[in-house]
Amino acid sequence: MINKLITREQRKPELQLSHEQQNIKVENHKASLLAWFDSSANLGSDNSRFSWLRISPFIAIHLSVLLVFWVGFSWIALAACALLYFIRMFAITAFYHRYFSHKSFKTSRFFQFVFAFIGAMSAQRGPLWWASHHRVHHACSDSPEDPHSPKHKGSLWSHMLWFLTNENFATREEKISDFSRYPELRWLDRFEIVAPAFLILMLFLTGEYLANSYQGSSTSGLQMVVWGFCISTVILYHATYTINSLAHRFGKRRFQTKDDSRNNFWLALLTLGEGWHNNHHYYATCARQGFAWYEIDISYYILKLLAVFGIVTDLKPVPARIKKQIRGEF
Ligand SMILES: [Zn+2]
Ligand SMILES: [Zn+2]
Repeated sequence: MINKLITREQRKPELQLSHEQQNIKVENHKASLLAWFDSSANLGSDNSRFSWLRISPFIAIHLSVLLVFWVGFSWIALAACALLYFIRMFAITAFYHRYFSHKSFKTSRFFQFVFAFIGAMSAQRGPLWWASHHRVHHACSDSPEDPHSPKHKGSLWSHMLWFLTNENFATREEKISDFSRYPELRWLDRFEIVAPAFLILMLFLTGEYLANSYQGSSTSGLQMVVWGFCISTVILYHATYTINSLAHRFGKRRFQTKDDSRNNFWLALLTLGEGWHNNHHYYATCARQGFAWYEIDISYYILKLLAVFGIVTDLKPVPARIKKQIRGEF
């Protein structure tokens, strides 16, 4: 009897502890769910590396590609897929990267928000989150402090695992105070889900309109969502991620930078110019990443076109000393 009492007494704190742990677990699940809608959700008490609940939409987008076997094909849906890849890749490379991360040109507050919104439609987090982490990447490229160096944690980490961790979930406010003073950007960064949700809704409505108004279009609301958002976004994801993984491993090193960045023609084509990554790490603040005339940089050509209409201004050029150095290569 006494033995039984002692055992019960001894068990009590254990039970209390497990009850507390249970509460913490429930709170963490709540925070993970809330983080789908509000990126200011506090994941502070969650010490696990990944929160599977929080990253399940990322997994779900990949699985949703399989819906293509159900919704079928149409040329208009394929065109939406390609066009949305192109437009959103431009918003990521020219604005999330060259503008918000490196301030390599200027634009109005209106277009700053418009392109931030298009970038956010890529479902690659908000502009402040994206740029703040990218600034850390440049400050300590391929050192242990680099959030996504393939050198220290491997290719898969640099490609996508790094941003799925709880550790890298919050925007690094101290790195992006120049842009976080705009309330509309803070709003977009916090409620980042709004932009992709808007795109999905627009695609669905367009598909339904086409299905009802043009019998020959062979499309539907769901088909437009699957091609225009699901498939296009997954391709866009992995094309963008190659710059963190492959462009630090495969290609030529024109400049002996302190990191392992490379220039890679194929990645430059895929990402509208970002593949000239060794050039970029050598001199990050110019609007152009293909330094030589033959280094195709589609985002830069589009920026030049936008400059004609005054939508962007003050494109920072490649410095004369670098141009001279490149001419010396021949
Ligand atoms: Zn890099
Ligand atoms: Zn950069």
